[in-house]
Amino acid sequence: MKKIIVAGAGHGGLSAAAMLAEKGFDVTVFEKNEKRDLGYDWTDIFDKRALIRAEIPMPERDKYTVKGRVCFYSPDGKAKFIQPSPKNQPQIKMERKDIYALLVSKAEKCGVKFEYGCKVNSPVTEGKRVVGIDTDKGVFFGDLVIDACGCDSPVRKNLPSGLAVQKEAGKLEKFYVFRAFFNNPESRKSDEDFALTLFPRGIPGISWIMSEESFTDVLIGRFEDFSYGEALDAVNHMRKNNPLIGNDVVRAGSFAVIPVRQPLGKMVCDGYAAIGDSAFMTVPLIGSGIANALFASEILAKTVINDFSGEFTAETLWRYQYEYFSKIAVKSAPLACFKSLLAGLDPNTLDRVFRTGNDRFFRGLTDALGKNFDFLKFAARACGIFKNAVADKELSKKLASCVKSIIRLFVLIEKMPRSYNENDVILWEQKYNEIFGIN
Ligand SMILES: Cc1cc2nc3c(=O)[nH]c(=O)nc-3n(C[C@H](O)[C@H](O)[C@H](O)COP(=O)(O)OP(=O)(O)OC[C@H]3O[C@@H](n4cnc5c(N)ncnc54)[C@H](O)[C@@H]3O)c2cc1C
Repeated sequence: MKKIIVAGAGHGGLSAAAMLAEKGFDVTVFEKNEKRDLGYDWTDIFDKRALIRAEIPMPERDKYTVKGRVCFYSPDGKAKFIQPSPKNQPQIKMERKDIYALLVSKAEKCGVKFEYGCKVNSPVTEGKRVVGIDTDKGVFFGDLVIDACGCDSPVRKNLPSGLAVQKEAGKLEKFYVFRAFFNNPESRKSDEDFALTLFPRGIPGISWIMSEESFTDVLIGRFEDFSYGEALDAVNHMRKNNPLIGNDVVRAGSFAVIPVRQPLGKMVCDGYAAIGDSAFMTVPLIGSGIANALFASEILAKTVINDFSGEFTAETLWRYQYEYFSKIAVKSAPLACFKSLLAGLDPNTLDRVFRTGNDRFFRGLTDALGKNFDFLKFAARACGIFKNAVADKELSKKLASCVKSIIRLFVLIEKMPRSYNENDVILWEQKYNEIFGIN
């Protein structure tokens, strides 16, 4: 029986583990935390269709709510753009602990084994092949290692350089976030379901506020790491304009990191496949990676099941990457170009974009988010942006360069090698990385 190691109990890894164990593979998940500590103490918004694709039963109706409208604020807080909630909203909000409960319970039922409290240190390699993992409980060997350790995965980071898997995310590719739920002194929901400010107080990053009757969920996200004191300072400023943010942290109150970039240009090698945040599968601007990790789990499991050679080489696993790119990354990776554009703007320019009523920019952007990316619509909107931006030479230059990158990206994904040939794949990866300024 083929042995599969899942390093880290990430969403995609757990879901792939269940599907593989169900088909008779011997699957073990190695997770550094104890079972009771899996997942953060907060809620997440994700596309419920991912649960269906990953064959996970929908949670009971009282376990989730439907995502409401989002209100984007300019850096100076004076202008806003509202993204309405679509009809038949597929995005749901639920507790991360409940998502984990669904994933773990399915994996257990399918026969997945768990090693909790086991920290993975690095991959074990033989020549160009990953043959296992080194952990604080010893070395474990397997026929395939699925890397689901998240953004800073020690498996990915310690792969030999010759395997051409990018190890580290670059500058402006990770978001450092502080998230806390404060008491809500007025015990009422705010009129805005979700208020998101770009570059609050001019600092590159975002802040968000979501008020429920019993608490107010506050998030501060920045491209640079920051301290607890700085986080509280930012919250104090938000509190001045928002009476629904109390003084007491009632839940969470911790830091985490989210990749905000394009997926890895090469996510497989002999005996190895990265999934979820380990492969940077988040949606670049907004960081939502749960749905993509679950969608990817179905593709990965099918690829592994259909590898009748049982060798799990880069050649056979390439099918997984190819399908992920042609079905999912083609819709999410272009947003990394938008993200780079936004991250490089100064707050005054952003204020101006909001003030000139250029909501086409944001409508184009928000349409592009998630699964509804429509290239023609995007191109039409981009032309609209140009029309409004001609007065601003600097901005129009940046927009032109962003649109050019997106078109190059579409063409490149279209030309992705269908089957694995090392030279072709590495050449393709180099071109892909070049679009994002990675050499
Ligand atoms: C503040 C915040 C808010 C977010 N909100 C949303 C949202 O609303 N919607 C959404 O879709 N996504 C959201 N995300 C992103 C989401 O968390 C990830 O994209 C998603 O969890 C997929 O990542 P993952 O499961 O692959 O990795 P992770 O969630 O990072 O899980 C990795 C797992 O591996 C374990 N691990 C790590 N290192 C080791 C090691 N050395 N040894 C053993 N185990 C290890 C970890 O303990 C963890 O269990 C948010 C992220 C943050 C930080």
